[in-house]
Amino acid sequence: MSLPLFQEVHIENTNSCGYKCVMCPRESQTRRIGFMPLEDFSFLLERIGPFQGVFHLHGFGEPLLDRQLIQKVQELKEKSPSSLGMIFSTLGVRIAEDYFEKLLAAGLDLMVISLYGFASGEYKKIHGYDGFELVKRNLQLLSKAMKQHPKFKANLKIPSSAISSILPIAEASEKVDFCRWVEKLGFAIGEWDYVHNYSDGRNYNLPDITKICPVISGKRKNILNITWDLNVIPCCYDYNATISFGNLRKQSLEEIFASPEYLAFVIAHQTGSISAYPVCQNCEKRDYE
Ligand code: SF4
Ligand code: SF4
Repeated sequence: MSLPLFQEVHIENTNSCGYKCVMCPRESQTRRIGFMPLEDFSFLLERIGPFQGVFHLHGFGEPLLDRQLIQKVQELKEKSPSSLGMIFSTLGVRIAEDYFEKLLAAGLDLMVISLYGFASGEYKKIHGYDGFELVKRNLQLLSKAMKQHPKFKANLKIPSSAISSILPIAEASEKVDFCRWVEKLGFAIGEWDYVHNYSDGRNYNLPDITKICPVISGKRKNILNITWDLNVIPCCYDYNATISFGNLRKQSLEEIFASPEYLAFVIAHQTGSISAYPVCQNCEKRDYE
C-alpha cells in the first residue's frame, strides 16, 4: 500500500474552544482536550518531510487559543517556505493589540473567519458565546496588521440564505451594514452554503449509503489529518477521533499507511461493510471542496 499523494496537511493545534456553536458537535467530544506542544509540532514537521502544499493549523477547536501558534507558524515557514499556512477562526479570543502583527510577521498566509451573527443577541444564539464586540475589535486589529502584510489574505465566511433556513439565524437587518464595514476593513466575504452532520454529531442531512467514502475515492484521500496528540484520523468529520490509523509519535507515515488499521478501513469501505465504524454510518460522505 503506497502513501496517498497528500495535497493538504491538517494539523490540529488544539481541540479547545470557548464557543458552543449550534452546528458543531463539540459537546459530544469525549476525547482529551489539549494543545499540541511546540516540540511535537517540530517533530511532526520532521515526520512529514519536505511537503510544500497547504497546511491547515487548526482542528476541532479555536487555533488562536494556542499560545504557541505564532512560533508554530514561524517554524512551518522556516521548514516549508513555499507552503501555504492557514487557519480557520472565529476571532472570538482576547488577544494583545500587537498579536496579529506578530502572527502575520511569522508568515501566516490565510485566515478564514467564521461568523454567523450580525448583532450581539443573534451572534450569541448561534455561537453560544457573546463574542460579537470582541470579534469586531479583532477584525479592526487584524485589518491594521494586514496593511503591513499585503500578501496575507483573510476571508470572512457568513451563512448563505440556504443555511439560514436550517439554523436558528434571523435574517438580521444589520447584515448589510456589517458586511460593508467588513469590506472597508479589507476582508473578502464568502458564504458557507452547507452544514455538516459531522458523522454522528448532527442530523442535518440524510446519510448517503450509495457513495463510497471520499477518504477512499475522493479528494479527502489527499488530506492528511492529524490530531493535537498525533493520531492520524481519516477526516475532519470524526470529531472524537474514533478512527485512528496510527500515531505519529510511534510510527512513520509509511508505517501508518501500511498498518492493519488503515488496511481494514480501506477494505471495509470498499466492500460497504462499515459496521465497525459507527461514525461513518451517519455520514453524508460529502467530498472536500
Ligand atoms: S465551530 Fe469552531 S468555534 Fe464553534 S464550537 Fe466548534 S470548534 Fe468552536
Ligand atoms: S465515511 Fe467515515 S471516514 Fe469517510 S468521510 Fe464519512 S466519517 Fe469520514
